[in-house]
Amino acid sequence: MGLAAGVDLGGTKILAALIDDNHVVVADKKVPTPADGPESVVEAIRTAVEALPERPDTVGIGAPGPVHDGVVKIAPNLPGWDRPVPLAEQLSKALGLQVVVDNDATVGALGEFVAGAGRGARNLLGVWIGTGVGGGLVLEGRAYRGSFGGAGEFGHMVVRQGGQRCNCGRRGCLEAYAGRASMERAVSTLVAAGAQTALTRIAAEKNKSQLTSSVWKRALSEGDPIANQLLDEAVSAVSIGVANAVNLLDLDRVVIGGGFAEALGQPLADRIAEAARPYVLVGDANREVVVAELVDTAGVVGAAALARRG
Ligand SMILES: [Zn+2]
Repeated sequence: MGLAAGVDLGGTKILAALIDDNHVVVADKKVPTPADGPESVVEAIRTAVEALPERPDTVGIGAPGPVHDGVVKIAPNLPGWDRPVPLAEQLSKALGLQVVVDNDATVGALGEFVAGAGRGARNLLGVWIGTGVGGGLVLEGRAYRGSFGGAGEFGHMVVRQGGQRCNCGRRGCLEAYAGRASMERAVSTLVAAGAQTALTRIAAEKNKSQLTSSVWKRALSEGDPIANQLLDEAVSAVSIGVANAVNLLDLDRVVIGGGFAEALGQPLADRIAEAARPYVLVGDANREVVVAELVDTAGVVGAAALARRG
């Protein structure tokens, strides 16, 4: 059916790509995300799509927040997006094309489903472990949005009642144990209490102000006890979430993506699968937990696939 454009709208950059029938990226354009509100962002996306070498037939967008009927309800990582933005309608007008919008984690899961580690699956959960923890569902081959656009909020499944404070303000969410921001806070607390860790030294050596996935990878390879302990806690939290999701939805594939998955690879997915097993009611040898394959392009490939499906 020709070309579709996929757009990955992130907190710092917008990636627009032209995707062919076989889910292959044929051209792309990257622009910074304007920080002065929705109107400028709409304009930046329009410019990026029009800068692609061919005009697409349809456009799909992954946005960093809950989306319902083409409306981004809130996007905490985008300045000024603290009220609902009818992104699909506004961009459709600006471009003169059909535009569909969905949550970025859902779109990423669809990308892995059509062209990555989710190929051949029927019911899939994508888990994105980054600064926070995102989740996206593809059920019976279709991106699942839920009733109000809130489906797939994997990071806010409660794994410990009354547990640690999460970025969302609630307590005991999975993200409070497995998101990199939360893990970094835990490191700061331990260091302030006098603990020694290779994490801070490696970050300084690499000139990083934050504990990136590559910093964690090196600390783990050096056998740093604090890095190991916090990764164990993260794996434990994610595995409880995965087991609960499997018990609820009888998933046949779980795809683990994000910085940690890129840095640690399939062994991370294997650890999560192993830790989840005792909590899963109906086991099956055909259920797979695998690391994502598409890395940076899952969002645009999934957004384009969503646009083709309408
Ligand atoms: Zn939360």
